[in-house]
Amino acid sequence: LDPRTRSALKDAIRTIPDYPKPGILFRDITTLLGDARAFRRAVDELVHPFAGGRIDQVAGIEARGFILGGAIAHQLSSGFVPIRKKGKLPHTTVSIAYALEYGTDEMEIHSDAVKPGDRVILVDDLIATGGTATAAVELLRRIGAEVVAACFVIDLPELGGADRLRALDLPVRTLIEFE
Ligand code: AMP
Repeated sequence: LDPRTRSALKDAIRTIPDYPKPGILFRDITTLLGDARAFRRAVDELVHPFAGGRIDQVAGIEARGFILGGAIAHQLSSGFVPIRKKGKLPHTTVSIAYALEYGTDEMEIHSDAVKPGDRVILVDDLIATGGTATAAVELLRRIGAEVVAACFVIDLPELGGADRLRALDLPVRTLIEFE
């Protein structure tokens, strides 16, 4: 990713201080999604390492991972698999609890969403502590997916999430970093 593209993508992201609570700098990708060039650029850069290889499914984490994941799946001619908050998927699911800053939450995937051995990439907008993505990888592996990589537009490297995923033997692709 060349430095000009990186700074263009970074400029397309809006930062909202103290949202959803005091002390958080919320990295808002709606401004990037609303900028046609930046949106295309982000999707093209995220898929770049996978173009020409076989990716059966792209798994997106609710909700911003759906937007990016749908575009990536189209670009790679793959299927799309939603990973959703508990209670939203209509068919038989596998679920996992994961830690939030305060308490826990649960996410789910349809148990038949992939075929055994399907090559899957995981997508979300941002990785912070990696708690969400680690749980998503676990769900995908439980239903038989071969998770080949995880992709995020934004990395918050100080929170260690990308390193946590790499420790699970998973290549991680991120485009830009914020402190
Ligand atoms: P984590 O599980 O700590 O890696 O948090 C990642 C999830 O929380 C992703 O789904 C992000 O969309 C969201 N998230 C965490 N921190 C931020 C932030 N500073 N700005 C925007 N979204 C965030």
